[in-house]
Amino acid sequence: MRYAVLSDIHSNLVALQVVRDDLADAQIDRYLCLGDIVGYGPRPNQCCDLVRELDAISISGNHDEAAVDTAQAEWFTAPARACLLWTAEQLRSDNREFLASLPRLRIVDDRITICHGSIPDPDHYTVTPLDAVLSLEAMETAVAFFGHTHYAEWFASTRDGRLPAEHPTPSGGSLRIQEGVRYLINPGAVGQPRDGNPKAGYAIYDTETNEVVIKRLAYDIAATAEQMEEAGLPEAMHARLWLGV
Ligand code: ZN
Repeated sequence: MRYAVLSDIHSNLVALQVVRDDLADAQIDRYLCLGDIVGYGPRPNQCCDLVRELDAISISGNHDEAAVDTAQAEWFTAPARACLLWTAEQLRSDNREFLASLPRLRIVDDRITICHGSIPDPDHYTVTPLDAVLSLEAMETAVAFFGHTHYAEWFASTRDGRLPAEHPTPSGGSLRIQEGVRYLINPGAVGQPRDGNPKAGYAIYDTETNEVVIKRLAYDIAATAEQMEEAGLPEAMHARLWLGV
């Protein structure tokens, strides 16, 4: 089975299309989406449409939840909140229903757990090995994918009392799944990377070869920035795309 794992698309259709095109010949059996399909970016409906078209097994992120229940937007920073209120206005009713229907956690094919921030708490940022322990101890599968931080990286744990090893992969990389080890993997963000590399991130997990490949792809940032400017979205939100922060 070959899974494509996408996270934090954030209404960045230009980036999502580049990822979709790159995966066209990758013999993907199933697409997984780790939430935050919308928020920040200029094309919320088109991104929902594409995720639905790919028949991706999806969960919700905090931005998806706040876009369909704007009372939650008050917990966000002022620019993020402005994007969410704009997104809420733009969303077609079918896409609002789609986002509202998404669960917060899923176990896919009895072997992969997908969550947004962490397994116990979708809003928790998994940044350090200590954060990773919360998910690595709670997971019921050997492999889990998470997003929310927009950093491509993975943690591995043999659960021998030591902290899990952290492996940042901002330029892409690969890992081989070993027997008896638990893995918590962030494929990076499709639509708003924050690990210093502005390229779109995603991962492929091949259960035959036991390999996970984390990839980065250049996309037309100027095109997304222009769409954001036209939509009147806060300048800080497109400025950061160039820097990957
Ligand atoms: Zn996000």
